[in-house]
Amino acid sequence: MSIEIRNIAKRFGNFTALDNINLEVKTGELLALLGPSGCGKTTLLRIIAGLETPDDGQILFHGEDTTEKHVRERNVGFVFQHYALFRHMTVFENVAFGLRVRPRNQRPSDEVIKKKVHDLLNLVQLDWLADRYPAQLSGGQRQRIALARALAVEPKVLLLDEPFGALDTKVRKELRRWLRRLHDEMHITSVFVTHDQEEALEVADRVVVMNKGKIEQLGSPTEVYDKPATPFVYQFLGDVNLFHSRVHEGWAQVGDTRFAAPESVGDKAMVYVRPHEIDLVREAGPGALQGTIQHIRLLGATVRLELDVADQDAVEVELTREQQQTGGWQVGESVYLQPREARVYVPEHRA
Ligand code: ATP
Repeated sequence: MSIEIRNIAKRFGNFTALDNINLEVKTGELLALLGPSGCGKTTLLRIIAGLETPDDGQILFHGEDTTEKHVRERNVGFVFQHYALFRHMTVFENVAFGLRVRPRNQRPSDEVIKKKVHDLLNLVQLDWLADRYPAQLSGGQRQRIALARALAVEPKVLLLDEPFGALDTKVRKELRRWLRRLHDEMHITSVFVTHDQEEALEVADRVVVMNKGKIEQLGSPTEVYDKPATPFVYQFLGDVNLFHSRVHEGWAQVGDTRFAAPESVGDKAMVYVRPHEIDLVREAGPGALQGTIQHIRLLGATVRLELDVADQDAVEVELTREQQQTGGWQVGESVYLQPREARVYVPEHRA
């Protein structure tokens, strides 16, 4: 089932939550909606589900206009961040619920329900918890049961809103890998909302980066990470340093390092460099960028140094622990920075 989102707009009073959104979710793909809090991800998901009505635009399921259809007619499954399971029902009964409440003529027999629920519990690898109550489960187990419950009615579309948002980092990481494997088995067209870039990059086939009710970029994880379309995408998908520079004859210069820049436009440039793309040296080259190390922090496998650089914002440099040991960098030391890679944006020239 493909989903086409055409010119969708949504306003709350004077506030525009979604501004002319166009995108297509392909059949069987796992698409992530990624963006900061308040950018409109949940609103878009709710419009796809039929829980919210758009002010403009259409939603097409498999080419058919579904905009006016009730949520129950859309055949979607949901998993939310705090999708409370029914507390007074066992795991088995929770998963069976969607089948039991079907109209009498569509309701499967008890035997069929039993088999189906156990198959689903096996799928989420929690069959051994069938007789427990939700209060006796961990957060991660509850979300897997919520997913089994969503899958019970064989939805054509699966909508997940920060499903692992309330869990700790380790469980979150396990569950997103698990979700990816599950999706590879089932191929249900899925839309996954997250504000966590690592999660989106790891889980999704394609990522929609949203900001202030608009799409900034749509692409594969590699595309949005390696070829960010806008400064917002670059900044949102990982830590980045911004250097203010000037374009001269097609080059933007940071210290003594030059980066190709669009030629025709104004002279101010923004040069973005990721912390792990900067080398530190002790010898000054001509026009080198000098900095003073202010802090050194250990981040597990890597070390993060914060430097003061004249006329720039504080600059962060990430080194491997080996590089840090070999360099022997110390707080208070004056050093030189050499960016290896950069992305240059020239704000549009207004005549
Ligand atoms: P978060 O990750 O914080 O949930 P989000 O990207 O999912 O953020 P939305 O929940 O879609 O964002 O909200 C988008 C904007 O619309 C927010 O500024 C929010 O305050 C506003 N908004 C959402 N629902 C309503 C509503 N029912 N009434 C008024 N404003 C709303």
